[in-house]
Amino acid sequence: MTIVRSERGIENWHLKPFEVTSKSKVQTVELKKDWAEPGETLTGRVLLDGPIQQNHIVQIRLVDEDGRTLTRKNTKAADAPFVSFEFPIHAWMPMLLRVEGALLENNEEISSAYTFARVTNRHQDQFNFVVWNWPSGDLSPYGSQSFAKHGVTAILQGGAPSFSLAASNLSYVPYTTSFRMSSHTVTAMLDDHGIMKNGCIHDPAVMEKWISSVVERQREARGHGVLVYSLGDENAVHGSCLSDHCLGAYRRYLQRIHGTIAALNEQWESDFSSFDAITLLEGEKLPAENAPRWFQEFFAQRLQKNRTDNEGGGEARPLRSGCASVLDNRAAWQFQGILSNPGTTPENRMFDCALPRVAQYGQAK
Ligand SMILES: [Zn+2]
Repeated sequence: MTIVRSERGIENWHLKPFEVTSKSKVQTVELKKDWAEPGETLTGRVLLDGPIQQNHIVQIRLVDEDGRTLTRKNTKAADAPFVSFEFPIHAWMPMLLRVEGALLENNEEISSAYTFARVTNRHQDQFNFVVWNWPSGDLSPYGSQSFAKHGVTAILQGGAPSFSLAASNLSYVPYTTSFRMSSHTVTAMLDDHGIMKNGCIHDPAVMEKWISSVVERQREARGHGVLVYSLGDENAVHGSCLSDHCLGAYRRYLQRIHGTIAALNEQWESDFSSFDAITLLEGEKLPAENAPRWFQEFFAQRLQKNRTDNEGGGEARPLRSGCASVLDNRAAWQFQGILSNPGTTPENRMFDCALPRVAQYGQAK
């Protein structure tokens, strides 16, 4: 700024912008781990670029959402191109910290960079107000802020929690999974071969893979702070299909409730040589002649509607896949009440999940 003065005072002035540059700068701030539990230590380093002088100081600061410096450290910039730091993390700290690294020359800041760190907070052992879904889009941070202001303490949502939740100190309830495909009924979850599209739940290898992928997706939420994990809703957790794994599970079930094949034969009026001899019938042979009357009625009722959709409103089409021979009499009593109320009721949907051969009815094409 140039100022022209006379004995009468300031006569005129002129401004000219100029740029201040430095070859010495902060390149980036790196964290060993971008979250910490209270009681743990946040460690990282500030990477520098350009010539480092004797009068250079690196200042590392933990800053809260409102721009307040909570703690800071001054370290002499040595010959190394980085400065390491450690901060103890306390329970009073907010869930989101801006970790700033600044380069000072003669106590004046000439360059800085920052990254974010989370302080894990679960909000457990307290009253919680949980809302499903947080506001998305450009105004998301203000939406989260508003939620918190009006008493919300946790958000239920799928995916990783955004920084805007941590900025508003909202705990998280991850919607981890929903074991279904395209619809809510088990029948809609089967592929053309009558196998669960998500993989058979009685196949240990498939389930191990499924569970690891679910767990893997929650890692970021764990660092944020999880109030409780939601296992999803509208699941068909009893889903069964026509795979050998489900058939094996069905045989083990029969063995458990009957004990011996002789006891089963007596109940079923059959002559199976072993539990392994019990197989599935092909669609056109259904229902078996010796099936209980209630089952035959149920079967006929199921054929009247296309059960591949939620509402069961479609027209019936020919069956394609196989299904087990007869329903077990001991299991039957549980379903009598359901069968006396045909139609698309939640109970009927539950029945979809009960046994492999019932699940098969919706396998219409
Ligand atoms: Zn299965």
